[in-house]
Amino acid sequence: MSNRFDAIIIGAGIMGCSAAFQLAKRGLNVALLEKGNVGDGSTGKSSAIIRQHYSNELTARMALHSLRVFQNFEDAVGGECGFTATGFVALVDAADQSGLAQNVQMQQSLGIKTELMPPSALADLVPGLDTADLVAVAYEPESGYADPYLTVTAFAQAAKREGARLFQDTEVTAVQFQNGRVAGVTANNQQFHAPIVLNSAGPWGARVAQMAGVSVPINACRVQVSFFRRPPAYKAAHPVVADFIHATYFRSETGGLSLVGLIDPEEASAIVDPDKFRQAIDDDFVMDAGERFIRRYPPMESCQVTGGYAALYAITPDWHPIVDELIPDSGFYICAGFSGHGFKLGPAVGVMAADMLTKASHPEFSPRLFRLNRYAEEEPVRGLYEYSIVG
Ligand SMILES: Cc1cc2nc3c(=O)[nH]c(=O)nc-3n(C[C@H](O)[C@H](O)[C@H](O)COP(=O)(O)OP(=O)(O)OC[C@H]3O[C@@H](n4cnc5c(N)ncnc54)[C@H](O)[C@@H]3O)c2cc1C
Repeated sequence: MSNRFDAIIIGAGIMGCSAAFQLAKRGLNVALLEKGNVGDGSTGKSSAIIRQHYSNELTARMALHSLRVFQNFEDAVGGECGFTATGFVALVDAADQSGLAQNVQMQQSLGIKTELMPPSALADLVPGLDTADLVAVAYEPESGYADPYLTVTAFAQAAKREGARLFQDTEVTAVQFQNGRVAGVTANNQQFHAPIVLNSAGPWGARVAQMAGVSVPINACRVQVSFFRRPPAYKAAHPVVADFIHATYFRSETGGLSLVGLIDPEEASAIVDPDKFRQAIDDDFVMDAGERFIRRYPPMESCQVTGGYAALYAITPDWHPIVDELIPDSGFYICAGFSGHGFKLGPAVGVMAADMLTKASHPEFSPRLFRLNRYAEEEPVRGLYEYSIVG
């Protein structure tokens, strides 16, 4: 069987699978190489919150495009993604009140269904939630969460249906160049040839870039999520809550559970080797996340801890991805570093990557904002105001 392709994609997380689907749909002969199984990286462990609350236009547009895909997944991709529309609320204090209002206005101008809500109305929406300290709330009725494993495997299946070939247990260990252009990769002591290679290796993105001698500022960072079973009177699903005051997010999970994670920038200091990190949850984390959860949602005082896990974010200095041709006119590209909020953008990222790799003259989403040189040029991605990243 020929090992010659039009494009090789390294990494079968949501970015690699979505890009493979889009490229195969455009008629390219694509090889998708994954060192383990589809979804083994950040994607399979994602909290998979789908919201459109972003503070720059590009990511808000990408989130809206992706939401429409999650809502119409069977037609747009095929298979299931487990999208559950519970709504989403963002809670901020006085310092971020005007920023939140500007953000909501910008999002509305793009067609996103979002509104400012008085804290008293939030108390009706989520009975039991403590709203006493709240100054401003943004509400997105269409948002929610998906099942990350179902989603990524559906994208992989869709790419295969369009003709892409998926190689699992296939670790890329070297990248070859000829006359300044990428020529292929080595994986499992085999050669795979293509004039285009996309590095979508998530937390391993810096390692794969280094195979071509390029340094990129992407770090693997250990983060945790824990699960709590809500008391029987609160069994009904609640909206996704991004609580910027207690630096916590929580969403419903099947079985009357709530998934709780932190949006504390402190988490980014846990830089780890992506091949060697503790995947079990820390007791301290469960205590901390549980206390913050109860502070915002006091009836959860009688919830039960049901476990949790640790996983990896791929973090960049400005918490936005690097999507670029890493060496100019070489055909060697990167699409990684989604810093804890990439899942919901996955469908749009596939389009962005396919436009970039095929040098589309009118890309739907220009990747310029995410170019590697923005750091050297001191033009990191900035929003209207600063929040932590929230799923
Ligand atoms: C706990 C947690 C909660 C999150 N919550 C949310 C959320 O609520 N909403 C949201 O939008 N985002 C969330 N995120 C972030 C989101 O999950 C990620 O941004 C997204 O999944 C990144 O996808 P990826 O394809 O870039 O990387 P990955 O899913 O990590 O995929 C990279 C793949 O590359 C493979 N690979 C690496 N090196 C090689 C190699 N040399 N050869 C072959 N294959 C290789 C890996 O095995 C892996 O499968 C969360 C992440 C975590 C960890």
